[in-house]
Amino acid sequence: MKINVENIKRVVVKVGTSTLTHASGYMNLRKVEKLVACLADLYNSGKEIILVSSGAVSCGLAKTGFDRKTLTTEQKQAAAAVGQCQLIDMYDRRFSDYGITIAQILLTRSVIDNKERSRNASTTLELLLGQGIIPIVNENDTLSNEQIKIGSNDTLAATVAKLCHADLLINMSDINGLYDSDPRSNPEAKFIEYVETVTDEIFAMGAGAGTARGTGGMATKLESARYVTERGIAMIILNGANPEILYDVFDGDFVGTYFAAQETK
Ligand code: GLU
Repeated sequence: MKINVENIKRVVVKVGTSTLTHASGYMNLRKVEKLVACLADLYNSGKEIILVSSGAVSCGLAKTGFDRKTLTTEQKQAAAAVGQCQLIDMYDRRFSDYGITIAQILLTRSVIDNKERSRNASTTLELLLGQGIIPIVNENDTLSNEQIKIGSNDTLAATVAKLCHADLLINMSDINGLYDSDPRSNPEAKFIEYVETVTDEIFAMGAGAGTARGTGGMATKLESARYVTERGIAMIILNGANPEILYDVFDGDFVGTYFAAQETK
């Protein structure tokens, strides 16, 4: 079986901290280079790309020297302000090498929950895409704390997919996709390649499975999958260890867990 990629034009790609950074917190430059090259290639093939990238807090912690073990919310917010600069500068330089312009969009829950602000974000996304620009989105972590944050970038990516009426959301993480039980505790766990509907049974499969260094576990990914598929957007969870896996997706191969869109947009 192959994925029908013919009709996929607008794609949101979400990359997590664990995919982009070393355990030290600093950027994994080899992976970033590969990711940008793949995205630039997909862009050249005619796809519209929106990148939802984490990494601000991790980069900022590495640069500011705040101690992860005793980190306060305020230090995390300050670290994000430093890290987001580095993150976007790094993308800007690399996409520029391919002649591609990028834009930075930082969202907060108060934007998403407010009709007018989210409409502004949606209009901006549309205008940027229309001009052939790749928007790069993150949560504005400096303005957020545990109580008011969007949650994780898994949730952010699903919201962005809805805001820009994407055809597909690709969630690149450090896990291969969905198993019928947690593969870290059950070596017999069976991999699920295709999910027709995100049912309670599917949720039960993902319960407890998490990622090594990102904030979102399988549960938030499944919530995102339910949210977007109910809005006519397909989603894939895959392992971003080698970003070139994106080529396989657009060759129509099943390389992670594919969640079918429920209805047309
Ligand atoms: N927005 C955070 C960052 O850029 C990451 C949140 C997440 O990965 O879920 O560091």
